[in-house]
Amino acid sequence: MIKIKEILVGTNNQGKYKEICDLLPKNVKKYSPKKFNISSPREIGKSFKDNSFIKASFFSKKTNLVCLSDDSGLEIDLLNGEPGIFSSRWAGKKSNFNLAIKKVFKKMENKKKNWYNYNKARFICCLTIFWPSGKIYSSTGIINGKISNSKKGKNGFGYDPIFIPTGYNQTFAEMKYKKKISIDHRYKAYKKIKKFFI
Ligand code: IMP
Repeated sequence: MIKIKEILVGTNNQGKYKEICDLLPKNVKKYSPKKFNISSPREIGKSFKDNSFIKASFFSKKTNLVCLSDDSGLEIDLLNGEPGIFSSRWAGKKSNFNLAIKKVFKKMENKKKNWYNYNKARFICCLTIFWPSGKIYSSTGIINGKISNSKKGKNGFGYDPIFIPTGYNQTFAEMKYKKKISIDHRYKAYKKIKKFFI
């Protein structure tokens, strides 16, 4: 198998871009869509897999580079899987995650006053590699956990301040960055595509 030596990391989300670059081997050359002045396509898919494919194929076709894209989000059981593929859209056009997190708490409280005791959630990540030849490979990673009863921690991005992974007492935002990226959904999905790089 020919190993990938350079790749477009197909996301305009800075938090994800950093995490994906830090997962990839150091000697792989990484490009960002910003460098090519390309904005992201509309995510019209019905699943994480659809949307990661939409992004990977779009960015690869625009640049003629191999592209790795991520689509990810938070699923909360009590909210029937919401926000799910709408995780970034809950933060609005200005990516205001204070707003998105407030929405989570409000919806949980409306469902059950003691929602904290009925509390199962997971982060899901689908990574897709799209080669200019048309070859495609997708993998999914899941980390189970629960929603914290308040925002905690300053690290990370998105919903990190309210997600506590199973087996830990801290939210992702309270954990050291290196720790988070060695256990999270993105890491689990990356493990399955590592073979294309090393
Ligand atoms: P999208 O994949 O670009 O649609 O965005 C996924 C959204 O899910 C992000 O904007 C984050 O809000 C959220 N998300 C995905 N992965 C993580 C994570 O590791 N930590 C916190 N939030 C995440």
